[in-house]
Amino acid sequence: MSHQIVTLRAFADNYIWTLRDSRYAAVVDPGDARPVIDYLEREKLELVAILNTHHHADHVGGNAALLSRWKVPVFGPHDERIREVTQRLKDGARCTVPHFGIELGVMEIPGHTRSHIAFHGSGMVFSGDTLFAVGCGRLFEGTPRQMHESLSRLMKLPDETRVYCGHEYTVSNIRFARVVEPDNFALRELETQAKLQRDKDLPTLPSTIAQEKATNPFVRVNEPAVVAAANRFAGKALNDPVDVLAALREWKNGF
Ligand SMILES: [Zn+2]
Repeated sequence: MSHQIVTLRAFADNYIWTLRDSRYAAVVDPGDARPVIDYLEREKLELVAILNTHHHADHVGGNAALLSRWKVPVFGPHDERIREVTQRLKDGARCTVPHFGIELGVMEIPGHTRSHIAFHGSGMVFSGDTLFAVGCGRLFEGTPRQMHESLSRLMKLPDETRVYCGHEYTVSNIRFARVVEPDNFALRELETQAKLQRDKDLPTLPSTIAQEKATNPFVRVNEPAVVAAANRFAGKALNDPVDVLAALREWKNGF
């Protein structure tokens, strides 16, 4: 079996993306060890690496329990709040997932948290809680400018790159995006598709960079329709895409 990406669920709406082949597995953001252990036992797989995008407990809470069972490298950001990280990675660093021979690049994408990173390569990006399908993370430790720059960098990845983000928020994100851009046809199509998936209890992910460019208001901050909607919310003309993003984020927080 060549490798594939499997979706493991944790908590209400977290995904633990799991790279696997017939013998090995690597997990991204194991907030909870239980679903990982259950899956690996059932499939008779050996864990070979953990990847962490940011320090929030629902992304790293399972690290310790997994490490007590499998001694594996933990790739993560320069942030002491994730104690278990064995290889702290800066922007532009690369890491190799053992046994898979897959090399991933690291991009620092602050905004949701100050030390958030993404892993990208082999046509995939693991974007944690920075870029969601049709949305972006809340600004807990970062500024609108940082989020704008982080999203802009992610949008420079190839269009066909598959986006694996940390939560199943797509349908509620689309509900907000449709208020911002009621005439966006791609968004309307995606809404139909996403609802069908959720009705079958299936993930709406991965997204792609192309899909985000077409549907995500937080990366479409230069689109006239998005700017006009942000202006209406703010009650004034916003002249900078950063201000448009800030207005959208504030609007969505109260949506
Ligand atoms: Zn988070």
